[in-house]
Amino acid sequence: MPQEIETPAATSAVAYKRVMLKISGEALMGDQGFGLHPPTVERIAKEVKSVHDMGVEICMVIGGGNIFRGLSGAAQGMERTTADYMGMLATVMNALGMQAALESLGVFTRVISAIPMDQVCEPYIRRRAVRHLEKKRVCIFAAGTGNPYFTTDTAATLRANEMACEAIFKGTKVDGVYDKDPVKFDDAKRYDTVSYDDVLAKRLGVMDASAIALARDNSLPIIVFSLDEPGGFRGILAGEGTYTKVQG
Ligand code: UDP
Repeated sequence: MPQEIETPAATSAVAYKRVMLKISGEALMGDQGFGLHPPTVERIAKEVKSVHDMGVEICMVIGGGNIFRGLSGAAQGMERTTADYMGMLATVMNALGMQAALESLGVFTRVISAIPMDQVCEPYIRRRAVRHLEKKRVCIFAAGTGNPYFTTDTAATLRANEMACEAIFKGTKVDGVYDKDPVKFDDAKRYDTVSYDDVLAKRLGVMDASAIALARDNSLPIIVFSLDEPGGFRGILAGEGTYTKVQG
């Protein structure tokens, strides 16, 4: 592992100085249909590094849907809370995979779990996490909120508020929020901006309703962008690119 040196980087030209990046577990599985696809994890880690290199402080939440989803377990007869804990554990695996990829690129990273598992990663202590960010370590928040019946979208919004992030970046397969599914409809229109209330009322599927409401109540913008676009994450921080901003 390379030696850690505190390097205050210039952040004057960036749109946001501290952000939360939320990606689904499925973003890590490539075309495999399940689990982690190492080249895909590495590609996303490089996108994160490119933003980190701009001096932006980065929080991350990665879902667990590529491994296990509570609702699917419950649908097969498993008790819901147990299924949700399995989903939360899946997010820890994804977080460790991303940490390994980031550290292989020389980016210091901490995995911070809402469910203490000291031999594996750090427990969530807000002040300690803030200190990691100040030291330019990427913080990956794992195990969701630590509670069943929530999603990692809500966990990302909760931690983004706690860490005083200036925006949530929601990486998806498309470059923003559309009025209808752009994969199915050629005439689908992308919004440049859309209000939290419209997202909720029109069920635009940006994030689940509790996450949107939590962002709205704390005036936290959500930037929906394509994770498949090379350099897309960095471009938005530099004031370029196509995306949708969900705001008040
Ligand atoms: N989960 C939970 N509480 C949380 C976050 C997640 O119970 O605070 C569970 C839930 O079962 C969920 C699974 O973890 O289905 C994986 O998270 P999510 O579905 O949000 O992952 P994604 O769709 O983003 O890959």
